[in-house]
Amino acid sequence: MDTVMPATSSVTSPSDRDFDLVVIGASYAGVGVVAAAREAGFAGRIALVGDEADLPYQRPPLSKGFLLGKAGLASLPLKAESFYADAQVVFMAGRRAIALDREARRIRLDDGTELGFKTLALTTGARAAALRCPGAELDGVVSLRTLDEARGLSKRLAAASAVVIVGGGFIGLEVASAAVTLGKPVTVVEAGPRLIGHAVAPEISTFMQRLHETRGVIIQLATKVERIEGENGRVAAVICADGSRLPCDLVLAAVGAVPNTELATDAGLLVEDGIVVDDLCRSSDPAIFAAGDCTSHPNVFAGRRLRLSSVQNAHDQGRVAGNAIAGRLEPYKAVPWFWSDQYDVKLQMVGLASGSGPAILRGAMEEGRFSLFRYDGDRLTAIESINRPADHMMGRRLIAAGLSPTPEQAADSGFDLRSLA
Ligand SMILES: Cc1cc2nc3c(=O)[nH]c(=O)nc-3n(C[C@H](O)[C@H](O)[C@H](O)COP(=O)(O)OP(=O)(O)OC[C@H]3O[C@@H](n4cnc5c(N)ncnc54)[C@H](O)[C@@H]3O)c2cc1C
Repeated sequence: MDTVMPATSSVTSPSDRDFDLVVIGASYAGVGVVAAAREAGFAGRIALVGDEADLPYQRPPLSKGFLLGKAGLASLPLKAESFYADAQVVFMAGRRAIALDREARRIRLDDGTELGFKTLALTTGARAAALRCPGAELDGVVSLRTLDEARGLSKRLAAASAVVIVGGGFIGLEVASAAVTLGKPVTVVEAGPRLIGHAVAPEISTFMQRLHETRGVIIQLATKVERIEGENGRVAAVICADGSRLPCDLVLAAVGAVPNTELATDAGLLVEDGIVVDDLCRSSDPAIFAAGDCTSHPNVFAGRRLRLSSVQNAHDQGRVAGNAIAGRLEPYKAVPWFWSDQYDVKLQMVGLASGSGPAILRGAMEEGRFSLFRYDGDRLTAIESINRPADHMMGRRLIAAGLSPTPEQAADSGFDLRSLA
């Protein structure tokens, strides 16, 4: 089967085209909106519009089990196809929203269809950031955000003889792990001084670097890509600013994500590194909600606005928006969490590290089972765990409740954290 499942739309006549709720972007946040709205009793007509051909699917496996053949297409859908019919949601796949008229309350799709709405939710997510250097357009230079791209990457990986991954963040390292496991020589080129430097403590960066190097990945830190050389239109080597030349026939650009905010900006909504929403996911227009990777929201744990890129945030914000649209006003205050699977290592993070306080080690780093408890003064702000899922789960409870073990309690593996909660 070539697609997760073909999806259809039942919008055929002009009278069909007026909806009480139109949701643009069919992934975690969009599905969260429609599911929560229906569960909270929203009885109006709903359309869910997405520009991808497949049923809404799980994105994280694309850089993990999917490349290894462990997560097949059938395991990917977020909801069975029957969900959309049962919830009376008109799901329009393969259709891109291209213009929003806020005054007329209409949205135009790329096939010319115009949909009327009373309430709109923008859940347009993010796209892979482009690699900006000469040669980035060569055949064999790819990025990874969608299932289509994962299908392409999977085929190219099978045929590749040497892979260069530009960017030592989560997606770059997960693909490195899959590629090396598939027997491919891999080099990761990272511009910053350490791996995943924007998201984890230095100790975790060092641990992950050792892990990858032990498996055979070559890691070049503090190295910028200057250009990509080609032969007959196909990638042949990556040339770094330090003069190094890395011969390869596949380059993955894993250099971050850009929020899809163009529709919102063009329609005059407030956008500041994401569509600006309040704690009920309302945009600067009271009839328009937004949720997920495309938003900037006030985060109670950070004490400031944030744009988060995670399944947790997209799913939870989607539900907050859907509930609010149905009249159930439950502000967003979910504890942020995230995970990454590389080889047999599960890295989990909960909370938001402020970076100013100590990082306390719990467990045994040399055994590859440990957590770092990160503090701001004496307040626990985040836990980063390697193969210690119980610490992670406790962290979700502790941080949500504003509870902090003392650094001594955190360091003592014999201390039962459950006694605090
Ligand atoms: C390879 C990979 C691995 C990841 N791994 C993890 C992980 O391990 N853990 C984790 O927490 N997070 C992970 N993430 C991040 C996570 O997938 C995202 O945070 C999440 O998908 C965001 O959901 P969303 O609904 O906000 O947006 P998206 O999932 O980006 O979906 C937005 C959808 O809207 C569509 N769209 C955009 N514009 C329009 C338009 N104008 N008209 C119609 N449709 C439109 C897009 O094509 C897309 O289908 C990973 C991401 C990738 C790419």
